Amino acid sequence: MTNYDPTSTGTLDVVQEPATEMQAPTEFGAAEIAEEPTGTGVASMLGTEAAAALPEAEATPTVAAPPKPAMLPPFPIALRHVSGSYVGIANSFELDLRVDVDGARPMRRMSGDFVRIIGSTRTYFGSFVIDSLVITNTKAGEVIRGLGRFTFSASHPVLEVTIPRRRFFQPAAPATVRFLTTTNQLGATYVCSWGSPFFRSVTLQTETVSDVPAPLFTSYDTGSLPSGGPARTLSVVTAYAEAGIEVIPAAAGPVIDIAEAAGNHMWSDAELMASMATHFTHYGTAPHWDLWQLQCLEHELGPSLLGIMFDSQGRQGCAVFNFSMGGTTPDQLRTQLYCHVHELGHCFNLMHSWQKSLAKPAGVDNPSALSWMNYPQKYAGGGTGAFWAAFPFQFIDNEIVHLRHAFRAAIIPEGNPFTIGAAEIDPQVMSDPVEDVSGLDFRIEPVHSSFLLGEPVVVELRLSSFDKRPRMVHGHLSPQTSGVSIAVARPDGRAVRFEPLVDHLVSRDPQPLQEGKELSETAYLGSGKHGLYFEQPGTYKVRGIYHAPDGSRVMSNVTRIRVRYPATQEDNDVAELMLGEQQGALFALRGSDAEHLRAGNDALDTVIEKYGKHPLATYARYQKAFNAARAFKLVDDAAPKRLSVRAPDIARAQSLMNAVSAPTTRLDEISKAQGFDRLAVTLEAAGNSEGASQVRQTSQKLRAASRR
Ligand SMILES: [Zn+2]
Repeated sequence: MTNYDPTSTGTLDVVQEPATEMQAPTEFGAAEIAEEPTGTGVASMLGTEAAAALPEAEATPTVAAPPKPAMLPPFPIALRHVSGSYVGIANSFELDLRVDVDGARPMRRMSGDFVRIIGSTRTYFGSFVIDSLVITNTKAGEVIRGLGRFTFSASHPVLEVTIPRRRFFQPAAPATVRFLTTTNQLGATYVCSWGSPFFRSVTLQTETVSDVPAPLFTSYDTGSLPSGGPARTLSVVTAYAEAGIEVIPAAAGPVIDIAEAAGNHMWSDAELMASMATHFTHYGTAPHWDLWQLQCLEHELGPSLLGIMFDSQGRQGCAVFNFSMGGTTPDQLRTQLYCHVHELGHCFNLMHSWQKSLAKPAGVDNPSALSWMNYPQKYAGGGTGAFWAAFPFQFIDNEIVHLRHAFRAAIIPEGNPFTIGAAEIDPQVMSDPVEDVSGLDFRIEPVHSSFLLGEPVVVELRLSSFDKRPRMVHGHLSPQTSGVSIAVARPDGRAVRFEPLVDHLVSRDPQPLQEGKELSETAYLGSGKHGLYFEQPGTYKVRGIYHAPDGSRVMSNVTRIRVRYPATQEDNDVAELMLGEQQGALFALRGSDAEHLRAGNDALDTVIEKYGKHPLATYARYQKAFNAARAFKLVDDAAPKRLSVRAPDIARAQSLMNAVSAPTTRLDEISKAQGFDRLAVTLEAAGNSEGASQVRQTSQKLRAASRR
């Protein structure tokens, strides 16, 4: 018989258990349980049931109390912790159980994943977590009980886990897991053998580019500078071990030789993503516990960018940039440790401390969190200096709960997209703030009054101060830096958070903004981690939230973005070609050589070749112009120095840029200016200073025009 609910069968089809432990399941068999009076509710049942099921128990049930050993030896001797992961099989299901009741920072929870085993295939089935436990010490061992939340409809949602206590030097005992209905009917029983003191395990493959100065980061002694925690030596591995997560360094290839790039050492988002896609063995396969990291010198956005989590497919890769933080002073080592741990935190789907309310389910914004996931300069308790003085080099409790117990899809790389159980957010974000005394005005406006279907949606973001006193601000108005969050309410009323393909970790300290002065930036919102945001005609509402350095959330106006219905068959055909996740990624990255985006590139080629006069062909040409204007580096094992470099095509870039920057095109001025800026850098590098300066003048004129 096929079983579709891993909690439901009562058959004791258990394996892997030592004979002595077989007593546990038989001792509390189904018949005995069935004679028990049925509790009126879970809460009352939890308090008494354990004692009833275990007649000889010297039970004093305590809610989430630290466990007290019941089988006390005649002399004081350390007992093993029972926390950690366990695995067992019953009825074609494997149960991966996580018990978190003692040891370092116990979160007083249990959680687990079911894997379905059919023949030689194993498929993930579902997860559960128990947020509130009753722990009882009995002769049989520690009995941990609670009602689970499941990703599927479980017929037997109550877990009762019995783990015999063992002395420190004895091997760990298995955990007997019984699933029960809320009326105490026994379902499936699993005997799970001890796996590891860690709750989860992930491999990390770190590749290094040759221009990162030696020595590479290994660890930091947190006692080197004043801090808010005990002094200890932390590496990425031990920092995550403290959170209960095992990070296993995976074999990396030889150093990637940047000399191949002939002086072009800066990395673009497009290059990073393409390199991961071609190089990372686990890329794009299925959810997996493997991460990829590139250590390089500098991102093309400049030295204040310390790290990014980049990934359209699902949080499996990040990069750290050593230009500003490389070195061996305590200050530099501290920043390196922080940056490595922070970026990997994003890969595990942790959000920034000040953005938690935008996740689903919503957390609580906490800009004063002393966490790896805060920015020191955004610390609401007083900025960078105060943050480091108080930071204990750890995650806060709810982050630890996520790392250890989140449903599998919400944490595993290539599981859910960044920041969600689901992408929707509270539509309340569209309503006006109760109070805003930040002294800042944040405006968001689309660059067109309406967009054609398939047209890249670009908005302008402007921040100004109307306070006589200068306001401290950061200049990161792009949603890619997490200094700004964007919410999009779709025509059907659902509100989603715009999540950029790439999340940039920036380090610039806040600057004063004088009254009447303005910062501005444009941002492409057409596609992000969840694919396309404006893929159907209708009226969208968009609002930005500026996360000020003091922790205030400055809400922008709500702007309307109208996406028109196609007027002609040609409009329709072009929209079809423009609207695709790969095309969206190409607009976000401003072009790419990546093999995994080839289908998108082909579609945009078709737009140019077949519908070259259509207004949207400009956008297809623009991303090609931008990409042609730059070299494209790719981490490539087939290349002799592990780096293949495609040289810029200046002539092509120039002619395409001239075409797309004609006054009649729909491309906005800032995007045009950025294209010319990119071209100028390449001309300069090629020794053509005169050409570069001409192109720069064009760019400046366009920027001036954009200010109107
Ligand atoms: Zn970050």
